Amino acid sequence: MTEDLISTVFRKEVLALSAYKVADSQNFIKLDAMENPYTWPENIKQEWLSIIKDCPINRYPDPECKSLVAIIKETNQIPEQSEVLLGNGSDEIIQLLLMALPSDSCVLAPSPGFVMYKQVALSLGLNYKSVPLLANSFELDLLAMLEAIERDQPAVIFLAYPNNPTGNLFDENAIETILKTAQGLVILDEAYAPFANASFIDKLPEYQNLLVMRTVSKLGLAGLRLGFIAGDKGIIEQLNKIRLPYNINSLTQVTAEFALKNQALFDQQTQQICRDRAIVFEQLNQLSDITAYPSSANFILFKTKENQADVIFDGLKKYNVLIKNLSPQGGLLSDCLRVTIGKPEENKAFLDALRII
Ligand code: PMP
Repeated sequence: MTEDLISTVFRKEVLALSAYKVADSQNFIKLDAMENPYTWPENIKQEWLSIIKDCPINRYPDPECKSLVAIIKETNQIPEQSEVLLGNGSDEIIQLLLMALPSDSCVLAPSPGFVMYKQVALSLGLNYKSVPLLANSFELDLLAMLEAIERDQPAVIFLAYPNNPTGNLFDENAIETILKTAQGLVILDEAYAPFANASFIDKLPEYQNLLVMRTVSKLGLAGLRLGFIAGDKGIIEQLNKIRLPYNINSLTQVTAEFALKNQALFDQQTQQICRDRAIVFEQLNQLSDITAYPSSANFILFKTKENQADVIFDGLKKYNVLIKNLSPQGGLLSDCLRVTIGKPEENKAFLDALRII
């Protein structure tokens, strides 16, 4: 009976989906979700508490987040001509963007890539297409991308820069060729920019169809849920029409503003994570039967011997270490696992356990 009700009420695309699952990480050394492992020093926490103490939570938040937008523009050096829209995480921005498209639109992204592009596109009944990356280098297959652009005329192309889960930065010239060829929007998803020292933000004035999306999640504020997208004012104006008015709550607004004024703290943490990434990368590659891929993000993708990914993933769990098993996704990710860079002692626990398994 309920099943009949459900199948008559909901769209078939929704019925066909599975919910995005997040692994239970309680009591684990958590190296699965690309979070920053560091919190704030006590004095900064106290300062923050004194600010949120006076946050007027009896009132609705500022719907335009004016002071937060100003500091985001400043700290990210957003060009004067560009506008910024904030989302409840960049996940919400992906949803907003795709909700604004005609129902028969195509969405294109390389694969493997961030799963949410496909999840949201399918949930909205859009036509989702992916083009495999080149094996081993995980570079864009430019010819295949250009063919797909010509054939499918995507309204939106997502390019994560650096890419999740492979960790590499795609070739800059290939991206510019895509920007010049695409008739629709090209979203450079720079979620991992703090670890990469590369960005398309300064190219925003050059390409009207370029939008750059970022998040504070990987920087150390994943719990706040705050992302932003920058681009042409006219395009942002359209997205603003479907954004819910109070999508960024008051506590997030004041906390993010406070945190971004303490940018130096995040810069130190980011530099530490990049130094530790080099150590983990080297040590992973010293292990026989493991190939670690170079990364410009705060995680490393590595490949195991055939059919060993599940064994290693489960073995690490027995040592209380949680990473991400990507092997079930198949294709280029067969036998692949992804580890987030944690604190030095967490990385050591991971590597020690891996050596034993
Ligand atoms: N883009 C990429 C490439 C990501 O890997 C992630 C998170 N894993 C996101 C966007 C979503 O980030 P947020 O926490 O801002 O929703």
